[in-house]
Amino acid sequence: MAVQHASDDTGLRSDFFLLIDGELVTSGRWFDVIDPATGAPFARSPEAGRAELDRAVAAARRAFPAWSALSFEERAAYIRRLCDALRKHQDELAELLTREQGKPVGQSRDEITRAATQSEGMTKIQIPVETLVDDSERHIELHYVPLGVVGIITPWNAPINLAAGPLTAALYTGNTAVLKPSPYTPLSTLKVGELAREIFPAGVVNVLAGGNDLGQWMTEHPGIDKISFTGSVATGKKVMAAAAGTLKRITLELGGNDAAIVLEDVDPKSVARKLFFAATVNCGQVCMAVKRIYAHESIYDALCEALADEARNAKVGPGMEPGVQIGPIQNRMQYEKLLGILEDTKRSGARILAGGEVPKGPGYFFPPTIVADIDENSRLVQEEQFGPIVPVLKFSDVEDAIRRANATRYGLAGSVWSRDIARATAIAARLEVGTAWVNQHRATSAFVPFGGAKESGIGRQYSILGLKGYMEPRVVSVLKQVP
Ligand code: NAD
Repeated sequence: MAVQHASDDTGLRSDFFLLIDGELVTSGRWFDVIDPATGAPFARSPEAGRAELDRAVAAARRAFPAWSALSFEERAAYIRRLCDALRKHQDELAELLTREQGKPVGQSRDEITRAATQSEGMTKIQIPVETLVDDSERHIELHYVPLGVVGIITPWNAPINLAAGPLTAALYTGNTAVLKPSPYTPLSTLKVGELAREIFPAGVVNVLAGGNDLGQWMTEHPGIDKISFTGSVATGKKVMAAAAGTLKRITLELGGNDAAIVLEDVDPKSVARKLFFAATVNCGQVCMAVKRIYAHESIYDALCEALADEARNAKVGPGMEPGVQIGPIQNRMQYEKLLGILEDTKRSGARILAGGEVPKGPGYFFPPTIVADIDENSRLVQEEQFGPIVPVLKFSDVEDAIRRANATRYGLAGSVWSRDIARATAIAARLEVGTAWVNQHRATSAFVPFGGAKESGIGRQYSILGLKGYMEPRVVSVLKQVP
């Protein structure tokens, strides 16, 4: 039997609340949330304004002394309880995530599993006091102390996972948090807030839904000490500029235009299957999706054909429908951007091997599209498409492929594919990115730093490097001679 949810006089589901100071509240203002599989609103989210932000920040500041005084082990125990709660509520969270975000429900479940696993992993990382000098005269230690209140701003492509990473990092290292999801996908994050309310002391975790202006107010707010932002390069630059006013610390996880370089010695079919998945999972709306494929001329046609086969056989449809691999694009703006890129690609004379015909609505469905023989300067190659349309480019000299892969302001990740692992590794190490993979793409771990080079970001998430980004280094320098 379907679960009945509270709905208001508009018929929209409305059982959603902001979390401020341990209380579930509404603001009296609401905004609609669209189901991308239909293009119609299905729920309403409460909308936080400046007053709610001020209350949340004040609560987080009040909660900070007691929370930061706990040991790492004590804070880890709280976070592990949240991970357990995510797993326990996985089914209902996954359905809600699919409804608001669009991805196939299996991928929603994977996102929740990933969020719990990576968060638990981070709580196993030790951040010890480091002794820098210890001689007859002096003892110098390096401590890492929490910053205070962390503002976390997330995008719409993987709202639960992209909230869990920064939230865990902030809390585990002793900070308190104010979390704001994207206005396109606020609901699953608000439900995570309800779970957090049952676990954490009041004020340690606050969750506010709202528009882009709420994000801007957070970046300017004098009561917030750090912003962890995940989103587009354009907004990341605004965050950095606004954070300058209070010299906030920032971690920026921004967009990418990842290249995959495929050498001549691979099995095209097997690599095509992996590349297709890495390019189209979550409908291509992944920061570290494969966004450009550079294939050696000797396997170019075979790889193109195998990719086109994958695209023709992929099932596109609403995320709750069984067997669907590719759901709708998450929102109308992104859908229209992709239509523009597709138009530009067709006009350029490139060859469309599969897909390319967008069905008439309802919903923002876009078929997986494989494009061959495309100009290097086209929009599809130069921009972050963030959708299931993939250009395949030819090279004859691998030096040329490396140069073209690096000829971008983005620098999130990239990959090299070959049977010759030593050769592929040497090529991967020359990619100007935060992560260069060999024979894989999109593999992350709680113990491995992830983030962007160049305009793909500042700082890292995960690993000890990422956690230190949520802390201030403090030197304690002792002269052993008593005055
Ligand atoms: P976006 O930049 O439009 O929005 C991200 C968040 O910022 C939203 O919550 C939004 O409300 C908020 N925001 C908007 N204007 C703001 C402002 N002036 N100040 C503060 N906050 C503001 O990004 P999006 O379209 O939601 O997400 C897609 C982008 O995110 C893609 O470029 C993708 O590559 C990137 N991304 C990066 C990573 C990573 O880890 N590097 C992960 C996922 C997504």
